[in-house]
Amino acid sequence: MSPRTSRRPLSALPRRGRIAAVGVAAVLAGGGLFGAGQATAGNAVPATDREIPNLDTVKDRIEAYYGDVETGDGEHHASPRSNYAKQVRGIADRARTELAGELAARGEKRDDRPAIVLDVDDTTLLTYNFERRVDYAFSDEAQDEYLRTTDMPAVFGMPELVNWAHDKGVEVFFLTGRKEHQRDWSVRNLKNAGYEVPTDRGHFFLKDEKNPPPYLECGTDCTTVEYKSGTRAHIESGGYDIVGSFGDQHSDLRGGHAERTYKLPNPMYYLP
Ligand SMILES: [Mg+2]
Repeated sequence: MSPRTSRRPLSALPRRGRIAAVGVAAVLAGGGLFGAGQATAGNAVPATDREIPNLDTVKDRIEAYYGDVETGDGEHHASPRSNYAKQVRGIADRARTELAGELAARGEKRDDRPAIVLDVDDTTLLTYNFERRVDYAFSDEAQDEYLRTTDMPAVFGMPELVNWAHDKGVEVFFLTGRKEHQRDWSVRNLKNAGYEVPTDRGHFFLKDEKNPPPYLECGTDCTTVEYKSGTRAHIESGGYDIVGSFGDQHSDLRGGHAERTYKLPNPMYYLP
């Protein structure tokens, strides 16, 4: 029943490939709401309703996890003191420790240069306010309107990690499923959110579905894993050693071409 086990073909999914059940894993991991062993990943069809998290309860738990704060304008934001913030800061801190060790061990002799690759949504920029505003009902139109007019805040701890790595001589690449036409909005947002690194075309890869780059053998029909791993291979071919790959979806990280992967939490949606 976990969305992660879905075999639904990409063509049958909305553009973003979202699977509707928000935060199933978060509720199950939270425990107590469902009997032990009832909600198993193998049960594609729930035997009873007891195997299905209540959608309103899931939304309440997502709010609590992000430490929802409602501002005077009716907008909802994640709190820097939330358990979400603590968890992602912990991941960023661990990554810094491990990357520091990697850089020290590499020395100066290698021909390739160290690099990190980061996804954007819910890896470097936090979509909680957007998701909450649209009640987790993603659409291309709503995303375009939001990105055009609004800056997302950074994921807690990530600008500090990225700027630190860049200062240490690590090349920083952004690799997102956002579309090419969203480039300028995304660059603006990354800058405003505190990422003090290059975001030119050579460092920021967005998905160009109509005119995919020649190094992507899957062309106009790439899965997320093919698109992302193929782009990492392309980055490597430029003389880089990807010492860390960061994403909030497992599809961000699969497919190799990175020495280490860092999975950030995201109970709000699932992308195959
Ligand atoms: Mg993401």
